[in-house]
Amino acid sequence: MSNMKSQAYLPAAGEPAWLGVMGGGQLGRMFAHAAQAMGYRVAVLEPSDDCPAGHVAERLVEAGYEDATGLDALAAQCVAVTTEFENVPAASLSRLAQQVFVAPNAHGVSVAQDRIAEKSFFVACAGKSGVMPAPHKVIASDADIDAIADDLLPGILKTVRMGYDGKGQVRVRTREDVRAAFESMDRVTCLLEKMLPLAYEVSVLTARGADGQSVVYPIAENVHRDGILFTTTVPGPNVSDECARKAQDAARAIVAELGYVGVLCIEFFVLADGSLVVNEMAPRPHNSGHYTIDACVTSQFAQQVRAMAKLPLGDVRQHSPAVMLNILGDVWFEGETVREPAWDAVLALPGANLHLYGKTDPRRGRKMGHVTFVAPTLQEAQANFEQACAVLGIAL
Ligand code: ATP
Ligand code: MG
Repeated sequence: MSNMKSQAYLPAAGEPAWLGVMGGGQLGRMFAHAAQAMGYRVAVLEPSDDCPAGHVAERLVEAGYEDATGLDALAAQCVAVTTEFENVPAASLSRLAQQVFVAPNAHGVSVAQDRIAEKSFFVACAGKSGVMPAPHKVIASDADIDAIADDLLPGILKTVRMGYDGKGQVRVRTREDVRAAFESMDRVTCLLEKMLPLAYEVSVLTARGADGQSVVYPIAENVHRDGILFTTTVPGPNVSDECARKAQDAARAIVAELGYVGVLCIEFFVLADGSLVVNEMAPRPHNSGHYTIDACVTSQFAQQVRAMAKLPLGDVRQHSPAVMLNILGDVWFEGETVREPAWDAVLALPGANLHLYGKTDPRRGRKMGHVTFVAPTLQEAQANFEQACAVLGIAL
């Protein structure tokens, strides 16, 4: 414990070094793959025994995210613990941190999981990052709704906590819409955000080590459908050099200002006039960073391992243009019939890398996997991506 700050947690053969992860979803699964490739053993804490990460980890601690016995078992097993989901209780990370190195820490995670704290943080560091969030207002009462300024509408009402994939969001045009939406969300505290004219969306994946050094990946351009990430393309066809530089500088400032250790993904909007607005951040690897597995020297998951184990961060260089297609449960459906998609035809396409998360129950809108197309040129990657969409029955 005495040299917890400086010394790396090396993978070891005799007394194996274990890394722990809070959460058993696909991000935990891909984290486990990366950790195991480096010789670590992996323990996952997750309440369900049938989970994507649980199928590959050497140990599953089957416990609730706030279960003291489970948390202590994870801490006792591991040299360091990370998280694979944003809504991990901050108090659980604090408990773990009394026994073991935890990255990211409770502070970074608690800012990212609360839209009010997150927006306040973005505003507070705008002087350094050079970017502001969308105009917004906290909605916690009827009086707050009465006081909404005209220029905040139309907008989006978002729950302050637990939102993901566009869930917990309602688009609103009038104060009456806000009132109805607030009621429909059982009057939990919300944030009203002005609806901005988006030209396109980008994200910047960054990682910061325990020594304060940080790395920033190439900027990724994201397309969403029905609030869920549909594709990530890198290099982004719309992204100018200036936009990329601004977003990367902002990411560097944000991760440093947060005093963060681990992988952090920051989402930005690019508006019609070319200006950049910071949207939100995820304190973990991100769906838009999956392309790094097949297209970069160091994947976002290998980077997560390096950061939490206090190892030097890896090269973020992208060696191939890439298009990442999210695979939702929808592609299993032909009308009401559920059948396996033609993965053989997808894999026949040049540069196709299939990643399925081992989920047994395909449901519409459920993230089941992704395919990343890499090629010598972006045009070739895009052409193969389009063919895959045809094979899978995904409309373009
Ligand atoms: P996820 O966790 O999947 O990234 P989320 O549910 O946390 O999503 P946001 O990222 O805030 O929600 O919003 C989802 C999408 O809704 C954004 O990617 C963007 O397309 C759209 N959106 C959100 N806020 C705004 C806004 N202020 N103006 C215009 N579009 C917006
Ligand atoms: Mg988002």
